Amino acid sequence: MRIAMIGAGYVGLVSGACFADFGHGVVCIDTDPAKIAALEAGRMPIYEPGLEALVAENVRQGRLAFRTELREAVAEADAVFIAVGTPSRRGDGFADLSFVHAAARAIAGALTGFTVVVTKSTVPVGTGDEVERIIREANPQADVAVASNPEFLREGAAIADFKRPDRIVVGAEDPRAVAVLNEIYRPLYLNQAPILVTGRRTAELTKYAANAFLATKITFINEIADLCEQVGADVQQVARGIGLDNRIGRKFLHAGPGYGGSCFPKDTLALVKTAQDYATPMRIVETVVAVNESRKRAMARKVIAACGGAVRGKTIALLGLTFKPNTDDMRDAPSLAIVAGLQDAGARVQAYDPEGMEQARPLLGDVAYASDPYACAEGADALVLVTEWDAFRALDFTRLRERMAQPVLVDLRNVYRPQDIQARGFRYVSVGRPDLE
Ligand code: NAD
Repeated sequence: MRIAMIGAGYVGLVSGACFADFGHGVVCIDTDPAKIAALEAGRMPIYEPGLEALVAENVRQGRLAFRTELREAVAEADAVFIAVGTPSRRGDGFADLSFVHAAARAIAGALTGFTVVVTKSTVPVGTGDEVERIIREANPQADVAVASNPEFLREGAAIADFKRPDRIVVGAEDPRAVAVLNEIYRPLYLNQAPILVTGRRTAELTKYAANAFLATKITFINEIADLCEQVGADVQQVARGIGLDNRIGRKFLHAGPGYGGSCFPKDTLALVKTAQDYATPMRIVETVVAVNESRKRAMARKVIAACGGAVRGKTIALLGLTFKPNTDDMRDAPSLAIVAGLQDAGARVQAYDPEGMEQARPLLGDVAYASDPYACAEGADALVLVTEWDAFRALDFTRLRERMAQPVLVDLRNVYRPQDIQARGFRYVSVGRPDLE
């Protein structure tokens, strides 16, 4: 199959490289010339484990190419995937579909022969109808079917997720579109990945329902963690106690600083807005959005409390800035609210992240960046573990203590065992676990 992938970001680039690895011919198109120039020079514009080697191999085999201009690739394509961003729109929080609509208009004029246009971006229910309308208006002669194929990969494990998905959702009314997508995903039959074929609107909504459910699960255990702190219970054990029930499942029950990233915050908000538009408010998800939003800044207050109630003039060191490990993505990371909360209270902030500092710089003013965890701890009145990178899972607490002004660790990911860290002379505060003092 010949595939044009519009948008070469986290989703477009990973999906494009994986499709090429399946044996398809793929051209990734992006309007950002710096991104395409970097890719052509063999440099990855994002950090994603395994991506550089996968891209290099498929470029070498002649199955993967990069362009800023879509005309030729779209004209030759059997399927054109739209994988552009759908961020929250400023002001009302609804999904900003301007990139999707612009892509649809650009694609319309370049179509030749039967082509399936597939939205891979996360788009509100009904967007496929709008994409189809835009294309048909711009090019009434086009022989086109518009399908939905939402993406469920996770940053940090994106290649494995794409190649071994729990399921593939294809939303299409036109059987020719289903046939093309079946052919594109055929290599995954070997992995027995179930393909769920639905109506287009159902597929669009399935993606939002999945993200909203996961965000709810996280928020639920975070509130249980808050209660644990008040009643002297341990959220880790509660999570295990409920997670071993197959109806609940163990995943997404890790208490922490609140969910962040480029998907959950914007997708929960967009679902809330869609539901309101259809006069069926989703009150559970509305509450999840509100609870999570206030939680991030509450984590700054937790740090302040661990420092004795005030941080004015104190130095706070943050380990990890990205919303989760193994990515450089800083979009909506809880660290943004935590840093702001600490700075508002008068703290000096220094930070270290293995991959996220470049993306963090334009988002975080007045932060001193360190070259490793120990340099980060220098002179600090508290060390805050914000993101559970592997590099922070076996820290040398003697070295840390020597450098810090005060031996205080606030572990927002419950990476360590309280008794271990206290035995090393630290005041240790975590999430949803009883204070040992
Ligand atoms: P991204 O911002 O990393 O990438 C989007 C890319 O599209 C950018 O490089 C941008 O330059 C390009 N672009 C914008 N308009 C264009 C146009 N008209 N033509 C060509 N290129 C254009 O975004 P992302 O994280 O890859 O997300 C893309 C979509 O996938 C979003 O809808 C998102 O919700 C969804 N999604 C993301 C993830 C994830 O983990 N990042 C997972 C599942 C789904």
